Amino acid sequence: MSYAEENLDPRWEWISVGTVDEPDQWVKGHCRHLEPTPVYAHPNGDHVANLCPDCDKQLPVD
Ligand SMILES: [Zn+2]
Repeated sequence: MSYAEENLDPRWEWISVGTVDEPDQWVKGHCRHLEPTPVYAHPNGDHVANLCPDCDKQLPVD
C-alpha cells in the first residue's frame, strides 16, 4: 500500500516508514478518537462514557 501524505485518513495517526526511493509509505498508528459517541446509562441517562466508532475503544468522560 502507498499513500500520499495528504490522502491519509485524518482519524488516525500515521507513522512514516518511507525510504528515499519511496517516501510515501505509511503505517497506521493510534486512533485519534476524533468523533466519540456518548454512552448514557439506563435508566437515569447519566453520561458515563464515550465510545470511539473508529476503533471501538471506550473513552472516559471529560
Ligand atoms: Zn478511536
